[in-house]
Amino acid sequence: TDNESRNIVIIGGGLTGLSTAFYIKKSYQNKGIVPNITIVEASNRLGGKIESLHKDGFVIEKGPDSFLARKTAMIELAKELEIDHELVSMNPNAKKTYIVKDKKLHPMPAGLILGIPTQLSAFLSTGLISWPGKLRALMDFVLPRKKGTEDESLGAFISRRLGPEVLQNLTEPLLAGIYAGDTHHLSLKATFPQFGVMEQQHGSLIKGMSSGKKTPTPMETHTGTKRSMFLTFRQGLQSLIHALIHDLADTTVKLETKATTIHELESGYQVETDQGEMLPADDVVITTPAFAASSLLNPYIDVTVLDQINYVSVANVVLAFDKSDLQGLFDGSGFLVPRKEGLDITACTWTGVKWLHTSPEDKMLLRCYIGRSGQEQNVFLPDEELIALVRRDLKGLMNITAEPLFTEITRLPESMPQYPVGHVEKTAQLRTQLSARLPHVHITGAAFDGVGLPDCIRQGKELAEQMANQL
Ligand code: FAD
Repeated sequence: TDNESRNIVIIGGGLTGLSTAFYIKKSYQNKGIVPNITIVEASNRLGGKIESLHKDGFVIEKGPDSFLARKTAMIELAKELEIDHELVSMNPNAKKTYIVKDKKLHPMPAGLILGIPTQLSAFLSTGLISWPGKLRALMDFVLPRKKGTEDESLGAFISRRLGPEVLQNLTEPLLAGIYAGDTHHLSLKATFPQFGVMEQQHGSLIKGMSSGKKTPTPMETHTGTKRSMFLTFRQGLQSLIHALIHDLADTTVKLETKATTIHELESGYQVETDQGEMLPADDVVITTPAFAASSLLNPYIDVTVLDQINYVSVANVVLAFDKSDLQGLFDGSGFLVPRKEGLDITACTWTGVKWLHTSPEDKMLLRCYIGRSGQEQNVFLPDEELIALVRRDLKGLMNITAEPLFTEITRLPESMPQYPVGHVEKTAQLRTQLSARLPHVHITGAAFDGVGLPDCIRQGKELAEQMANQL
């Protein structure tokens, strides 16, 4: 192919695939090259995990519901798509989060940053940690730094610095929620690398997190956002997908089409689909979950690393209520449930409070989460049983007995990638292997360098720029 136009096949039409397409268009145009992009998507719609639903005046998210402002790739993309005026931030009066202990809701102590205490007085007075547990956490000030730079599990790290009780009762419910994971199997370097850096720089995690708190990063000052600020779009995250689709009007999209095989040609590739097509490609970008990428790359390279990324199945149950039917106090954003509480829901977001735009004023939306690593069986229960189990927990914890106006169940089988210890190094090696064996075949997305929505956008953008530079 000459360099004036290039055929690019993107496998997977989730946020990573769409963002990659968006930034390929931009960066190739800057080089005077017309990219001829085809997106191949197995399901019947674009957006992947992102799916918003509008119902009876509610805005309901079936997948992700918001994103961190501190990771600016999303805000930058929203500006480029001219939808930044639709951004809304979390209700500032709903900052309080509860954690369940002995079947009761306890407010999370003030000053907890990513599950790490930074305000000692608040930490010392919380009912969530016993006195021995608190004393153990304070040993963080005197314990020596770890020697060497080898990766370890997030759980091993927190337990080593702050003790097992803080891990179980505070950090795990907060951080593991993001991955629906087991902290003892998640890589520290791939999930919260800043923790390891703080230990090395400050000799103490608490000191490190506290110092970071006082000085906003240059980016925070620049964008006026706080590290903990969450944002979303007024009409749901689907707005972002609609805007991307609109911008990509000249891109070929093949829905209900699965990429099955990548064929090597003398020059370039052909992507075979389950619809019997052969799509010519100068570049191939794989943005699917690791298990799907594994079967595409298996004929060419050692895919053990991809097979080692386990995906956890989760579900969420949204319940809508008349406010007048609820007597509970909703003075925060919801609650988290540590594993050892033995309940079926893992967390509950008081969506109607946390995100005021999602519910009519006299109504309340609750979103309960089911399933985490090692506790996935409930996800596949029949609808009635799943709802009954959620309502039983809501009754036990919040005394909610009212009949919901409606419920909305979303099951997301094998949806939460668990970055194993050594992930960063191993995936870098995999990519080196891939670029040697199949040049111009790339692999990116939530399986690699961050699961957050802004992480997916950033990865797509970085790849697009790297591809344009290789032209
Ligand atoms: P996906 O969205 O999974 O897209 C991959 C696409 O590839 C899919 O559409 C799939 O159908 C397609 N595909 C697979 N195989 C093939 C094939 N062979 N051929 C063609 N197509 C194929 N992040 C946040 O920042 N904030 C949140 O609040 C948040 N909440 C979350 C809640 C849940 C329940 C889940 C599951 C995730 C959440 N995340 C959140 C994470 C975030 O949603 C995901 O990491 C992100 O959407 C992944 O985007 P992606 O494009 O990389 O992958």
